[in-house]
Amino acid sequence: KEFIFILEKINNGYPIEYIFREVEFFSDTFYIEEGVLIPRDDTEVVVERAINLINNLQTSNDNVKVVDCCTGSGIIAIEIAKHTNAKVIATDISKKALKVASINVKKHNVDVEVKKCDLFNEVADVLVANPPYVEISHKKPNVYEPDIAFFAGDDGLDIIKKIILKAKELEYKIAVIEIGYNQKESLSNFLTKKVKKFDFFNDLAGNVRGVEIIF
Ligand code: GLN
Repeated sequence: KEFIFILEKINNGYPIEYIFREVEFFSDTFYIEEGVLIPRDDTEVVVERAINLINNLQTSNDNVKVVDCCTGSGIIAIEIAKHTNAKVIATDISKKALKVASINVKKHNVDVEVKKCDLFNEVADVLVANPPYVEISHKKPNVYEPDIAFFAGDDGLDIIKKIILKAKELEYKIAVIEIGYNQKESLSNFLTKKVKKFDFFNDLAGNVRGVEIIF
């Protein structure tokens, strides 16, 4: 009976990850539950980019400080903590996300501080984020996942712009941010007058997926 019930749910598009409360990301297994965005493979290029940058920034004994804002299930923060010596802080506004991220931090036995915050207030060196970036008029990517993880205003850039301005104000050195495949041009216009350098990068499917910013 339980098997049939599960099959029916999956048939209706209910994510299998929410049923088994498990998801694979970056060759690791993470806890996940309804109410929190299911990690996507696309985000792996963002994590790889951030890890390389942080390891290049790391020189003396002074550990690089990193904030992963809009952390969701905590995957970005945890992989950075695993693959660098950085001091990592993960923030989110969603209580459910903070719960799931904390479970994952324990599961992977890493030193990541999980904090409730609307974006972030910490002074640090590097900002990494997979924030909501979907246009409000766009069809919801998955009806079973939370709106708060997807939507960010008319052009999807409301939160990304806030994050960039905040990181600049707090004198961050670098930011690595996941973006939508169609946001390169509008984000270029926004960034040109505000930061020293920026570089877009693609996901494995060849679509624009992220931006690296030097302030
Ligand atoms: N990449 C996700 C999707 O299109 C969107 C996640 C996000 O807005 N950060 O399904």
